[in-house]
Amino acid sequence: METKEIIYKLRTKNGFSQEELAEKIFVTRQAVSRWENGETMPNIDTLKLLSKIFDVSINTLLGSPRELVCQCCGISLDDCNTSREIDGVFNEEYCKWCYADGEYTLDFWRQYGGIDEKEKFEKLKKQLISELNSLLHIINLPKVENLNILPGEFVNLEYTLPNGEKIKFLDDKKTYLGSQIESESGDKCYGIVLNMDFILVCSYEENGENPELVFYKKR
Ligand SMILES: [Zn+2]
Repeated sequence: METKEIIYKLRTKNGFSQEELAEKIFVTRQAVSRWENGETMPNIDTLKLLSKIFDVSINTLLGSPRELVCQCCGISLDDCNTSREIDGVFNEEYCKWCYADGEYTLDFWRQYGGIDEKEKFEKLKKQLISELNSLLHIINLPKVENLNILPGEFVNLEYTLPNGEKIKFLDDKKTYLGSQIESESGDKCYGIVLNMDFILVCSYEENGENPELVFYKKR
């Protein structure tokens, strides 16, 4: 879709007349009309205002010309998972799990000064992998090769305790490092999740079903 159609759709969906929209973003009704006819394009400041009013990213307003990915974890970005600044403005560099309220949410990034210090982060990751592998060796599991950044809400499984109580250990809003390994028989997977404070190993069947806690250790 082109910007002219997108603006028209968003305006009518929100129930604004051209006049009403124009007033909200400090332009004339004629300006709105010209955008919708495709004669002109809103300038960058106006795009920012439109983004705020319609609650869509500037990328979406422009017809999604760019394939956006989170610069921290690499997940592909859309208007639902793109991060925002404290004032609600989209930050199209990061996903909402890696960056929120004007800050990196990942302890690792925070500690290492953010994305600029990628090298340091890679070094930390290597340390964590070797620590993890000596632990996996003890509990008789294969080694992991790499750790990925994982949004909490994807890996926060619910475990059933022996007394029937259900429990979750993670925070949906935080980000963790983790990996998945297949059991030798191939009938289940082991999931590993860690951050600076703990290491958790669990097992589960296809699609994360019947999760069981295998190991939990404070670091
Ligand atoms: Zn991310």
